[in-house]
Amino acid sequence: MSDQKRRNFLKLGLIGAAVGLVKPFKASELVAKSFETKIDGPIVISTWNHGLAANAAAWEVLRVGGNAIDAVEKGVRVTESDLTNRSVGIGGMPDRDGHVTLDACIMDHESRCGSVAFLEGIGHPISVARSIMDKTQHVMLVGAGAKKFALEQGFDTIKTPIPEVKAEYKKWKKENQDLFKKPEINHENHDTIGLIAMDKKGNLSGACTTSGWAYKMHGRVGDSPIIGAGLFVDNEIGAACATGLGEAIVRIAGSHTVVELMRHGYSPMDACRLAVERIISKHKDLTNLQAGFIAIDKNGVVGSYSVYNGFNYALKTDTEEKIVDAPFNRNW
Ligand code: ASP
Repeated sequence: MSDQKRRNFLKLGLIGAAVGLVKPFKASELVAKSFETKIDGPIVISTWNHGLAANAAAWEVLRVGGNAIDAVEKGVRVTESDLTNRSVGIGGMPDRDGHVTLDACIMDHESRCGSVAFLEGIGHPISVARSIMDKTQHVMLVGAGAKKFALEQGFDTIKTPIPEVKAEYKKWKKENQDLFKKPEINHENHDTIGLIAMDKKGNLSGACTTSGWAYKMHGRVGDSPIIGAGLFVDNEIGAACATGLGEAIVRIAGSHTVVELMRHGYSPMDACRLAVERIISKHKDLTNLQAGFIAIDKNGVVGSYSVYNGFNYALKTDTEEKIVDAPFNRNW
C-alpha cells in the first residue's frame, strides 16, 4: 500500500471511529417533521396509485392479525392480476424483442427472501418468489430455470403479451428507432409496485413486482427482484422498497442503503432522501431519471422521497386510506 493510500485508509478509519462515537438518535424523535407519520398498529404502504387496491387486499390479512409476509404477497398479487396495468404482471409491456419478462422479490421479518427474474408467461411472479423462499435453499431463480420451477409447483401459464399489449408493441416498433432512450419519468411504463407492511406483532415484510422498463433490452433485469436494491427488510430496523430507473437504484443498493441509514438513526424520510441524494450525486445526467423510495421503521414511522416530483404512494392504517405525494429533490 502506498503512503498516500495508507494515509487515506487511516483517515477513513478515524472518521469511522468518530461516527461510531456519535450517539444515533431514535427515528421516532423525528416524527414531528413534515411528511412523516408515526402510526400505531398495522401499516401497509405501497408505491403509486395502484397501491390503493393492493393495500386493501393486504389489509384483509393484517386486520385479522395475519402475518405481514402473507399480507404483502396477497397485496401485490392484486396488481399482478390487473390486466390493464402496463408495468406489473402479465399485462405489462414487453422488451424490445416482444417478450414480457417479469421480476419480483419478497422478504420477511426473519430475513428470509425469495426472488425471481426474467420469468415469462406466469401470472404471479411474487408467488413464485415466495415458493423459492419457502421451498428451496436458494434466494433467486431466473429465466428458464425459474419457469421450470414454477411449472413444477403448479403455477398456471399465460400467453404474453396479451393482445392489447401486442398491438401497442407493434405500433411502437414501427415508430421507434431510438432503442436506447430512457423511459419517460412518472410514466405508466415505469411503475413497479413495492409494498411493505407491519403486522399486529410489529413484524415487517415486503414484496416488489414489475414487468420492468418497457422496451428494455432482452435479458435486462432491473432493481426490483434484487434483494437490497428493489426491496430490503431488517426486522430490527425497518423496511424499504424502490421504484424508478432500476439501473440507478442498483448502483447504490438503494433499499438496503435506506435501511442502513435508518439503522444509523436517520428517520425513514431522511433515509429515503439521503439515498435519493446519493443517486443524484452518482449521475451526471438526471434527464428522466426518476427514482423513489418508501420506508417504514420499527417504530411505525413512515417516510418517502423521490428525485423528481410526481411520485406518490398509498398508505393504509386502522384509521386512514390515502395517497400521499412524496417529497422530492427537484421539479421536472
Ligand atoms: N424499477 C423498475 C425497473 O427498473 C421499474 C419501475 O419502478 O417502474 O425495472
